[in-house]
Amino acid sequence: MEKKEFQAESRRLLDLMINSIYTHKEIFLRELISNASDAIDKIYYKALTDDTIQFNKDDYYIRISTDKDKRTLTVTDMGIGMTKEELEDNLGIIAKSGSLNFKKAVESKDGYDIIGQFGVGFYSAFMVSDKVVVTSRAFGEDTAYKWVSEGAEGYTIEETEKKEPGTEIILTLKESNEDEDYDQYLEEYTIKRIVKRYSDFIRYPIKMMVSEHRKKEDSDEYETVMEEKTINSMVPIWRKNKNELKDEDYENFYSEKHFGFDKPLKWSHMRIDGMLRYDAIIYIPSTAPFDYYTKEYEKGLELYSSGVLIMNKCPELLPDYFSFVKGIVDSEDLSLNISREMLQHDRQLRLMAKKIEEKIKDELMDLLENNREKYEEFFGNFGKQLKYGLYSDYGMNKDKLKELLLFHSSKEKKLVTLKEYVERMPEDQKYIYYATGDSVDRVDRMPQTELVKDKGYEILYLTDEVDEFAIKVLQEYEEKEFRSVSGDDLGIEEDAVEEEDKEEGKEIFQEMKNALGDKVKEVRFSKRLKNHPVCFATEGEISIEMEKVLNTMPNSGDVHAEKILEINPHHEIFGKLKAALKNDKEKFGLYTELLYDQARLIEGLPIEDPVDFANKIAKLM
Ligand code: ADP
Ligand code: MG
Repeated sequence: MEKKEFQAESRRLLDLMINSIYTHKEIFLRELISNASDAIDKIYYKALTDDTIQFNKDDYYIRISTDKDKRTLTVTDMGIGMTKEELEDNLGIIAKSGSLNFKKAVESKDGYDIIGQFGVGFYSAFMVSDKVVVTSRAFGEDTAYKWVSEGAEGYTIEETEKKEPGTEIILTLKESNEDEDYDQYLEEYTIKRIVKRYSDFIRYPIKMMVSEHRKKEDSDEYETVMEEKTINSMVPIWRKNKNELKDEDYENFYSEKHFGFDKPLKWSHMRIDGMLRYDAIIYIPSTAPFDYYTKEYEKGLELYSSGVLIMNKCPELLPDYFSFVKGIVDSEDLSLNISREMLQHDRQLRLMAKKIEEKIKDELMDLLENNREKYEEFFGNFGKQLKYGLYSDYGMNKDKLKELLLFHSSKEKKLVTLKEYVERMPEDQKYIYYATGDSVDRVDRMPQTELVKDKGYEILYLTDEVDEFAIKVLQEYEEKEFRSVSGDDLGIEEDAVEEEDKEEGKEIFQEMKNALGDKVKEVRFSKRLKNHPVCFATEGEISIEMEKVLNTMPNSGDVHAEKILEINPHHEIFGKLKAALKNDKEKFGLYTELLYDQARLIEGLPIEDPVDFANKIAKLM
């Protein structure tokens, strides 16, 4: 019998495992099962190219057994087995990068399924056991070897007998203590649960002796008999043929997986057969989870490697703007082996993420074009997220998202896309007009919309806080610039003001500006008002709605829109102002302040001094 020490790296990793406070210790079973499945795969692949090997699927399976008296849990496979050298190389040495990355990950964050990600598989057995015995006979060899280790001290290796090729791994479980129950891994129930959770879709049978409660023959009595049963279902829904599956199957899977309590609005079953092969099922939920717009919400898809769950929520697979999507991805090429190489791992994830993102976009476009009602339901739930996505990262993703937006239309009285808007623009209309406010009703009554409406142009009503920010990032759609109805230049030729009024206006407005001081940048005639006496226009980047939003944010400083008080030259108020300036300076002052306050009220801005405002009105009455 030879006694050997582990390599330094392996020893470090083993120490980590033995003393692990990792909360998902149960994944050791998944790791052993995937290794067993990999080992059977290797025979399977050998058989593909070697005629002398018959691969009869029924002969290959994985067995789990327990011995409560000895406190052992055994995993046996009919796989390729290991030679003496392989036992030493594979179980005595671990790829440097693997352990280092693992260590880094352990130190940086928990909660993640780091072990699966880094493929430090076999060693995880030491999280639950004091002693591990691996007996293996390599395919095509007569001699078997026994590898025994009781932890970081090292291992022994010696010749032994084994009838069949394959590997048997016997774990002697640690004693339970206050913090940790190791005895549970001897229970049929626990093992079944763990297998169901992580390894249900392993493509070989996982067999175990299970107790069966059944009726005795020719009697009413029941008896408990032990019977060997396959405890995994083997074929995952995503591996099945699409035409074998009904809507119901996809809906059941959605709820089985606890993706949501709702019925999914839409799903897509992808089978990608390129350089990187994978299957995926993605779902668009019909309602937003209660925590969707909070920091607690975690995006991500379930990630499997050849049917073995690696991660519950892999965030790299979804962009933030599609964070509502649920589903799973399973790749044969993303083996636990390969995943030791972090870089490779990342590159593969990125490739998959890109495809998945395109698919989600296609599905949404399809919904938009072919089932408008459902799309509007979707947009009601997740539209805000798309708009945030458009606006964030300096608008990097705007071109991907702009077609998916909907805004309320002044003309259609319903939600429209930008494309629909632009397609029906009259020839003389140069810009895409929008107006912002708290609600559709409120925006609809805004005086600033008068001229544009009068011209017969459509206006988009922006009622979400994020809307105007998104529009600003977009700047234009199909070369049509966005213009706010409150903005400086509407690009509409309007009727001229009488020369005489213009002259008088200058003087009046200068007086008004003097009275108002810094509150406004300018007072002037309005080109956009038709019936209403007064309104604000703004100059520059910040609109009044943006001022409101920004001022609700912490540490935003004091942000102000540059307001211009506009007076309707055709409204009788202009005559009144003219007269007051000539005859009654005090009244002129009152008018000015009241008009200013009215403009604020119209915008939904608070009045600086409501009592003063009320008194002024009373005075005039
Ligand atoms: P990984 O599976 O990511 O390679 P593990 O630590 O789980 O890492 O396993 C290390 C290696 O040990 C495997 O790559 C494989 O070569 C070998 N091995 C482990 N278990 C078995 C088994 N049951 N049969 C054959 N080889 C095995
Ligand atoms: Mg493994």
